Amino acid sequence: MSSPTDAPAIVPDAEFHDAFARVTAWIEDYYRDTRRYPVLSRAEPGDLVRALPAEAPLDGEPFDRIFDDFERLVMPGITHWNHPRFFAYFAISAAPVTVLAEALAAALDVNAMLWRTSPAATELEDVTLAWLRRMLGLPDAFAGIVYDTASIGGFTALAAAREALDLDIRARGMAGRADLPALRVYLTEHTHSHIEKGAIALGIGRENVVTIPVDDRFAMLPDALARAIDDDRAAGRMPMCAVATVGTTSTTSTDPVAAIRAVTRERGVWLHVDAAYGGPAAILPEFRWLLDPAHDADSIVVNPHKWMFVPVDLSVLYVRDPELLRRTFSLTSDVLTTYEAGVHNYMDYGLQLGRRFRALKLWFALRTYGVHGMQERLRKHIALAQELASWIEAEPGWSIAAPHPLSVVCFRYEPDPALEQTAVDELNVAIMHAVNATGEVFLSSTRLHGRVVLRIAIGNERTTQADVALAWDLLRREAVTVYRTFTAI
Ligand SMILES: *Cc1c(COP(=O)(O)O)cnc(C)c1O
Repeated sequence: MSSPTDAPAIVPDAEFHDAFARVTAWIEDYYRDTRRYPVLSRAEPGDLVRALPAEAPLDGEPFDRIFDDFERLVMPGITHWNHPRFFAYFAISAAPVTVLAEALAAALDVNAMLWRTSPAATELEDVTLAWLRRMLGLPDAFAGIVYDTASIGGFTALAAAREALDLDIRARGMAGRADLPALRVYLTEHTHSHIEKGAIALGIGRENVVTIPVDDRFAMLPDALARAIDDDRAAGRMPMCAVATVGTTSTTSTDPVAAIRAVTRERGVWLHVDAAYGGPAAILPEFRWLLDPAHDADSIVVNPHKWMFVPVDLSVLYVRDPELLRRTFSLTSDVLTTYEAGVHNYMDYGLQLGRRFRALKLWFALRTYGVHGMQERLRKHIALAQELASWIEAEPGWSIAAPHPLSVVCFRYEPDPALEQTAVDELNVAIMHAVNATGEVFLSSTRLHGRVVLRIAIGNERTTQADVALAWDLLRREAVTVYRTFTAI
């Protein structure tokens, strides 16, 4: 039995040094040779739970034993988001230098809830978000704040939109109020689901989330939005917020933000622009048009953890009226009373009190790559996606399923026009499973006009043309094999 006085070392010692060196070597090796892992984990449900004891160890264990188990037990259950042939959902990657930033942030373990609880964490957030704002071509009138995810940024924007209605909801709540009209949120079937979740959490109710129709390019019809808002007003409901997406999750379509802005401005409705994935493309002069019409939106979300080589999690919300955001959330407790003027206490601008030092990894990434390096990487992804689309277009039996302006391509295999559409759906799902089962690539699917389509998203900074070509080869090969078993039945 050890006594409290000979507790384990609590300052880094030789053992820590060796452990860190082992981890560093492992990370270097991982980045160098990620392709050796199956992209999609082959774990079966419960594998890891069964492999680990039901109780925490009573006595501490040496690091080497923990790390051995990490390699032996945890790694097989990892789906490799940082793999150059991860093409599912939105492909992402953590620039190696951001791993160092995360290690430093953990070592400092600061909580940036108030300016004084770490002035540099707050001010680095101010500075990096101002850099990013200029890179995106957004006006200086926008103030930025870092949250974990776009989901929380979107929720926060909705909360601010509700506060902007001056209905005294902050004080009186919504329940049991005969004076309160139904509050309405407008989106399309392609808007990311977090907006509807936010509406649920804020007491707006799913019935008051209005789906505006889209055109054949999956973009919102602004006239239909105008009609919906006017009809709601006429019926005594209160329009609260319209959401326009720059780069939707299914196809990367972009809503006509300028026309939507004209509709919402005329009617005094909050405009939230969800540019979680598509926003970063606006750092390219040739894609400035994506965010240009969002210049006088009320709020915009951009996710550096999606397409700016910063590891999960780091999402940015820009708002035109930070004072309103503060009014939405700030409460002062005696413990947290502050005395400094002219500083940001970021706990006042959202739900959470405690805040990680997330800006550090964004700062490392922006300095390491520079604007040009970021632009080069995004351009490469877009070019690879366009090249893949040209291969698909040229191949008999395959077709492109949606416009592909950015780094995502949606497509479908339909070898015989006589096949029932539901059979084609099943065929495409079977091809996707077969391709993913090889472990060489991981891609996902979506539904457009009710039909299954396959989807390849390019976003890892180490993805090469050979990686994309390998995915395309596998798709064609597995399509033939899977279709043969289909027709044999
Ligand atoms: C990925 C995505 C989100 C959600 O992002 P999180 O940061 O994971 O919450 C929201 N909107 C769009 C358009 C997205 O592509």
